Amino acid sequence: MAETRILDRNLHIRAIDTYIDPTSPRARAIITHGHADHARPGHGKVLATPDTIAIMKVRYGEDCAGAFQALEFGVPLTIDDVTITLFPAGHILGSAQVLVEQGGKRAVVTGDYKRLADATAQPFELVKCDLLVTEATFGLPVFQHPAPGREIARLLTSLGNFLERAHIVGCYALGKAQRVIRLLREAGYEAPIYLHGAMVRLCELYEERGIALGPLKLAIEAGKGELAGQIVIAPPSALKDRWSRRMPDPVLAMASGWMSVKQRARQSLVELPLVISDHADWNELRETIADTGAGTVWVTHGREDALVYQCRQQGLVAEPLNIQGYEDEGEAE
Ligand SMILES: [Zn+2]
Ligand SMILES: [Zn+2]
Repeated sequence: MAETRILDRNLHIRAIDTYIDPTSPRARAIITHGHADHARPGHGKVLATPDTIAIMKVRYGEDCAGAFQALEFGVPLTIDDVTITLFPAGHILGSAQVLVEQGGKRAVVTGDYKRLADATAQPFELVKCDLLVTEATFGLPVFQHPAPGREIARLLTSLGNFLERAHIVGCYALGKAQRVIRLLREAGYEAPIYLHGAMVRLCELYEERGIALGPLKLAIEAGKGELAGQIVIAPPSALKDRWSRRMPDPVLAMASGWMSVKQRARQSLVELPLVISDHADWNELRETIADTGAGTVWVTHGREDALVYQCRQQGLVAEPLNIQGYEDEGEAE
């Protein structure tokens, strides 16, 4: 198959010996975005968007790779007979799809993506290709994400109903936290939003890179009673620990695509599940595959089989990739 010469099933671009989102240290890597299952420390040379490089340095330290090369969206970079171009994936700040062109063939690796509007990420751009490597985090027909504005409205309604209770919203620290804050601002919520300490540095980074989040305060510095009727953003792990029990009679909420699975919400003791996902849902995955015009589709990230079956029904060549090590962070996305 012609496409497999551009890219192999380990997302290795053989002609330039470069891996996309490798799960172990490599001499040369292209990183789609800053989540830990895609961006790992210890590579030799890293090619990524300026935002992703900034995120990696904040999370892993300035010298987490031998060298960094920043590539802006839409700017082609030619190495030997291979051309690499990054396009926005709409998943988190700086998240990119990777277009690899060689000998007139085009392969696209989506990384994680969504097509829904999100003020905290550069908007998804559709890229035509012959081979599409797509994620399938929510690759089952049962996953149909509601409009995020509706979920934010449910949070604000609960806040209005329980003015004496703090509302702690479990959010993954990179991407989800900033998106939820921004969605609250878009819904007209202007009060200070309180942060768990683990959120602070990444919120600052988003602000530094031009994403306004409005007034933020550190929850630990709030006086007794100050958090009643307020919103606190915390990592999901903090919902269950002593940290949250200091709050006035907290309502435990969680913002995640997984919150559509009622059992998951129950297991995590979440009273107010908010279905807010940074991944494409089932329909979005199917539409995107069709829109790219790809004849061959490789599926990564978990629930691969349903999407592979669906693609084959449409007459496409489709395979699961079964790459180990993705989705270590997926619980909260
Ligand atoms: Zn991700
Ligand atoms: Zn991922």
